[in-house]
Amino acid sequence: MLDIRFEKTTNPKPLPTADNPLTFGTIFTDHMFEMDYETGKGWHDPRVIPYQPITLDPSAMVFHYGQEMFEGLKAYKADDGRILLFRPDMNAKRTNNTNRRICVPEIPEEDFVQAVKAVVATDKAWIPTKPGTSLYIRPFIIATDPFLGVRPSDTYKFIIILSPVGAYYPEGLNPVKIWIEDDYVRAVKGGVGEAKTGANYVASMAAQMKAHDDGYSQVLWLDGVERKYIEEVGAMNIFFKINGTVVTPMLNGSILPGITRNSCIELCKSWGIPVEERRISVQELFEAADNGSLEEVWGSGTAAVISPVGHLRWEDKVVQIKDGGIGELSQKLYDTVTGIQLGRIEGPKGWVIEV
Ligand SMILES: *Cc1c(COP(=O)(O)O)cnc(C)c1O
Repeated sequence: MLDIRFEKTTNPKPLPTADNPLTFGTIFTDHMFEMDYETGKGWHDPRVIPYQPITLDPSAMVFHYGQEMFEGLKAYKADDGRILLFRPDMNAKRTNNTNRRICVPEIPEEDFVQAVKAVVATDKAWIPTKPGTSLYIRPFIIATDPFLGVRPSDTYKFIIILSPVGAYYPEGLNPVKIWIEDDYVRAVKGGVGEAKTGANYVASMAAQMKAHDDGYSQVLWLDGVERKYIEEVGAMNIFFKINGTVVTPMLNGSILPGITRNSCIELCKSWGIPVEERRISVQELFEAADNGSLEEVWGSGTAAVISPVGHLRWEDKVVQIKDGGIGELSQKLYDTVTGIQLGRIEGPKGWVIEV
């Protein structure tokens, strides 16, 4: 249990107004959570303070060798006014999995969740209520030792910032066009692909730019060794419905274990739909598209929840899925997950936590 100190702002910002449509990650609330770590002392001085810049030494290790991690989750305001978090215990667990991989000290799971609740409760007036909107929560940890040698830092900051975000698809679910990348790779087994760390994102940017230039919104990554097996979209996991069976790449060490991915698998199983977590080659996928058994494709992640895929390109081959439209199961998963998140549908036990 953290003994959190609260310092409220004396200069609150105006809340976003309804005529100002929210985008993603551009405005931040009045407060943030901060806690420090020092070897020998552990995590200490947990506090909710006014949102403000942080001052770091230019030699701070995070700037040079990338020892940092982040998480992403959302808070929602239910119709009855309750403030709900979706499976924050999973973010806490994943934080520590990431931390172990990048030699960052762990944070007790209950402290992580308590810190999220404390800062969300402080800024609860910032949770938007229009359909599709939410309060995005970004916890992150950075290495702060002023030192240019290569080793894990002895000091860290754990910070949580909050950003009211708009509907990912303001006009309702909208299928995306995806580029299958076979030149660059995002991650390899044994690397940091299954850790939620910025290194995976910087590795992905050149391919992302290439895809954008060609009119594609996202990159689908193949395995880094054979460039044959499908991995994930880089900020989303990927699902296929082939001949009535839901197929998603198995967690193999280079794929990020998404909480939305896990939720999709659990829900499909509960509806009696067969789910296979296994290797799937891009060859198999395009064969399924050719013989008509590829029924749906969607991505899963906190930001968009479910992103139907309408169009896939691999080398010079292009397939349209559902004529570029939205699949039934994609829509049902979107409606169910967002319904659970908003407290309108009863989900599996423990998925929704009240702040
Ligand atoms: C965060 C993330 C996801 C999605 O995970 P969720 O927990 O569902 O938001 C997928 N891939 C990568 C690389 C990610 O960083």
